[in-house]
Amino acid sequence: MSPPENTRDDRLRRQAVAHLERLQREGVWGLDLAASRESPSAGEPLASVAGPSQQAASTISDGQAGLFGGGGNGGGGGRPVDETLEQIEAEALECVACRLHEGRNKVVFGVGNPEARLLFIGEGPGRDEDLQGEPFVGRAGKLLTKIIVAMGYERRDVYIANVVKCRPPQNRNPQADEADACEHFLLRQVAVIQPQIIVLLGKVAVQAILGSSAPLSRLRGKFQTWRGIPVMCTYHPAYLLRNPNAKKDVWDDMQVVRDALAESGRP
Ligand code: URA
Repeated sequence: MSPPENTRDDRLRRQAVAHLERLQREGVWGLDLAASRESPSAGEPLASVAGPSQQAASTISDGQAGLFGGGGNGGGGGRPVDETLEQIEAEALECVACRLHEGRNKVVFGVGNPEARLLFIGEGPGRDEDLQGEPFVGRAGKLLTKIIVAMGYERRDVYIANVVKCRPPQNRNPQADEADACEHFLLRQVAVIQPQIIVLLGKVAVQAILGSSAPLSRLRGKFQTWRGIPVMCTYHPAYLLRNPNAKKDVWDDMQVVRDALAESGRP
């Protein structure tokens, strides 16, 4: 049985409280429940994929507050949570909430700058990551590092995390209940880091975060919005190893991300 702090109800309660606290910090003191019931998006799950009129480049440059306050780090939104990455990681290291804990060598929590403006999210650790306890250190990871460097950053400037923190057997895709059990760790990482932009690497991350199974070819190239944060979907580096022709698309996407960060004018 899951420990009480890992129950779905508890996670939902924690997410709801964090969400309401953020709204309060942004000056919202009342909720129009009747309006939200009528809203077409009221029944949407975690994710909402923005249409063309909600391009995130404008979200960044117009200084609109996202749910994480001011649209991310440096936006003056303040720290929305009272926990640190170290505290969340300590909890993850003990996690037995899903079957993936049975085969793991190491929990792969995440790595990088806790105040990163840019957060990369992959699907889950592979063999090298499971052995080393760090995301994206295998072949695909080396390619991701090259991409980060080509953008003008280093790994330590950004933050890198995965949808699930333990390696799925034989590198299969994480199953829905595994992603669900791990979701609160990622949400809490995002809440602490407050990235200005999130890059979703591959369709598993896209499905988990945006709840969209639309083809990457349709989602990539422009920003989506998730919880007020601009999100760029792009191909997974492992896919690029198999399909080098797609490297150009990823590079185009990363230039859009880099330009948006540069335009935001924040440190
Ligand atoms: N692939 C991922 O999605 N994540 C890693 O950490 C490594 C490979």
